Amino acid sequence: MAGMTETARPNLHVSGHPLIAHKLSILRDVGTDTKKFREVVRELTWLIGYEAMADLATQDRAVETPLEEMTGAEVAPRIGLIPVLRAGLGMVDAMLELIPTAQVWHIGLYRDERTLKPVEYYNKLPDAATVQVCLILDPMLATGGSSAATVDILKAWGAARIKQVSLIAAPEGIATLSSEHPDVDIHVAAVDRKLNERGYIVPGLGDAGDRQFGTFAGPASEPGGDPADETVEVVRRLQRKLGH
Ligand code: URA
Repeated sequence: MAGMTETARPNLHVSGHPLIAHKLSILRDVGTDTKKFREVVRELTWLIGYEAMADLATQDRAVETPLEEMTGAEVAPRIGLIPVLRAGLGMVDAMLELIPTAQVWHIGLYRDERTLKPVEYYNKLPDAATVQVCLILDPMLATGGSSAATVDILKAWGAARIKQVSLIAAPEGIATLSSEHPDVDIHVAAVDRKLNERGYIVPGLGDAGDRQFGTFAGPASEPGGDPADETVEVVRRLQRKLGH
């Protein structure tokens, strides 16, 4: 939808809940240590996941309470969780607490440095879809390239409905995913200002994988370090598309 601001897209759901805003500020804080960061990713995933599943269909279920029989409800579609490696892994346990019967499927993608396109390196999906609703889990919707490629794979697999569940999104990532897959709902806690030249969301929270797993390798892996050429090119291309 050309000309539409990224925050006004009908498929975009940005939570306005005060608890979510409070917890997100803890995540953003550079002083938050790894243990606390993981805890808050889990809590935020719980809250955003709860909102993302608000429109799931239910079916009747007979229940016997201690007092009488009644007709209760159960979630009707089978749910698949697809964490984007590696930062999405930290969202899986929280989602499984919400929906313990969900299946967890892993798809591994990396970006080819020559073509700048996502390349699949791991995919053990069975031939036919075993779930109806797929939730792609990635704390940071940055360029949107991995998510759009994951959606391609899930649609070819036969998933009837796909949602993206993230904590922070960049306008560039929302534009990419929404223009390639307008039918995919995007649930986030916040939409930030932009991607920087390194492909980091700003103000953001830094590298969600490093902050969850404690893998800080020094200046080269930090948000302020020198960007790789291909990253700069991807970011510039996305920003041109958005008219920045
Ligand atoms: N991935 C991250 O972990 N952080 C960003 O800001 C962008 C992508």
